[in-house]
Amino acid sequence: MTKHLFVTGGVVSSLGKGLTAASVALLLERRGYRVKLQKLDPYLNVDPGTMSPYQHGEVYVTVDGAETDLDLGHYERFTGVDCTRGSNFTTGRIYSDVITREREGGYLGKTVQVIPHITDAIKAAIRSMDGDDVDFVITEIGGTAGDIESLPFLEAIRQLRQEIGRTNGLFLHVTLVPYIAAAGEMKTKPSQQSVGILRSIGIIPDILICRCERPLEQEHKDKLALFCNVERQMVIEEQDVANSIYEVPLALADQDLDVYILELLQLHVGRLDLRDWRAMVDRLVNPKFGTVEVAVVGKYISLQDAYKSIYESLTHAGGSNDVKVRVRQIESEEVERVGAEALLAGVDGILVPGGFGDRGIEGKIAAVRYARENGIPFFGICLGMQCAVMDFGRQVCGLDSANSSEFNEKTPHPVIHMMASQRNVYRKGGTMRLGSYPCRLEAGTEAAACYGATEISERHRHRYEFNNAYRQQMEAKGLVISGLSPDGELVEVVEYPAHPWFVACQFHPEFQSTPMRSHPLFRGFVAAAVKRRDLVKSNKNEGA
Ligand code: GLN
Repeated sequence: MTKHLFVTGGVVSSLGKGLTAASVALLLERRGYRVKLQKLDPYLNVDPGTMSPYQHGEVYVTVDGAETDLDLGHYERFTGVDCTRGSNFTTGRIYSDVITREREGGYLGKTVQVIPHITDAIKAAIRSMDGDDVDFVITEIGGTAGDIESLPFLEAIRQLRQEIGRTNGLFLHVTLVPYIAAAGEMKTKPSQQSVGILRSIGIIPDILICRCERPLEQEHKDKLALFCNVERQMVIEEQDVANSIYEVPLALADQDLDVYILELLQLHVGRLDLRDWRAMVDRLVNPKFGTVEVAVVGKYISLQDAYKSIYESLTHAGGSNDVKVRVRQIESEEVERVGAEALLAGVDGILVPGGFGDRGIEGKIAAVRYARENGIPFFGICLGMQCAVMDFGRQVCGLDSANSSEFNEKTPHPVIHMMASQRNVYRKGGTMRLGSYPCRLEAGTEAAACYGATEISERHRHRYEFNNAYRQQMEAKGLVISGLSPDGELVEVVEYPAHPWFVACQFHPEFQSTPMRSHPLFRGFVAAAVKRRDLVKSNKNEGA
């Protein structure tokens, strides 16, 4: 039977519940269990796909094309699990399904209510992850205990655990133990109160995971155990990690969190071997070959979460190249105000990531041009690739007003235009070209060299594409189309061999990079940045 772990949060949001869930999943996986992860979000959007990155951070895209919460990115990066549409449910999606069913007569004769109909639908969503090939489902409940909007989720997990019994389900409560500087003390009261809230709705946590800035003293653990009704050894400390989020599972393993979970669920405790994970963390934290600086020129820069997977992928690629990647975060509108040179001079690589809408576009295009003209390694992703094509059209092919029809419908040169399949689509939610599609790389290109393969599959999220009417003209000027959809219709990767490293892709490689297996294109980009750094250094030395 599939066992369930329910992860709730207490006191404040942003405690890193997702990282905790992902870390627990990694440990269980390393003990030989097959794990799936799931996030339940209490908001009313059916999925986060329609939200601004400023509201929600990055929208993470799964293999099967679901637009989901960014915590799923942590799940996939920490474990070997592919998340799917079933890995993320929102209140909006649950209600939408229940209301659709009501209109179809699925509840004929009944009054449809939060309890039992919404809670039943939530339980069904959780149980949809069960299977003969799944030992554990870890379900993270978004929000904080005490929120009005997460109540139906909490009631559903309370019922579910009651139904499956305590040897088949556990409650893990991630809570905050703040340090109050003025008093010089750590305080357990907020956690006691948040457990009190859970208790009042019938949930008694089995394990407390305490987020803290400083180590928890035994005295704090005793207090938490006594007042929160948990066994002493089930009070786990999760102190802020010093260097890398990938240290979290190591810290939890040191306290035997996974052993306690397995024992409570009466499961066999196999061997745990984390040597390769430790080695990876060590490489990330203490790289041999110094630092490279890469600029990320985006339009949502002020929110760190908006480019979560991009930043993580750069970190992974740094590990593979044994360097630290320092990111210079550049707001593309700022490039429009003060010019590319002022903001980008001295970087070893420039990455332009995805985005929507015309704000800041000219700044992105200027950043591409700066990279192209100065021989700085350039990596364009989705909108970044589209900007690269616009720059190439304008500056190299002499198409002065080249643009994307997303930003100017009347441009005489729509080098990027709406995909034919999108022209009659008017609804916004879940309607882009989404999820994994195969791509064929041209042998002998930079892209093929990076992947070491010509048949690849990558995840997508876009409405616009390279306009094939301009293919010949751009190829004649030296742009190489190195990746195409298998039918040859959709341009997936372009590169510019006249430049040290200039690769841009329509898909989102950042969704498939993990710390144990960095993404080939990110790896190649960072390797090129290292080369550039060393070249600039040796030129300087010669000049001196
Ligand atoms: N806005 C562009 C499109 O829809 C790019 C999307 C993206 O960067 N994810 O095609």
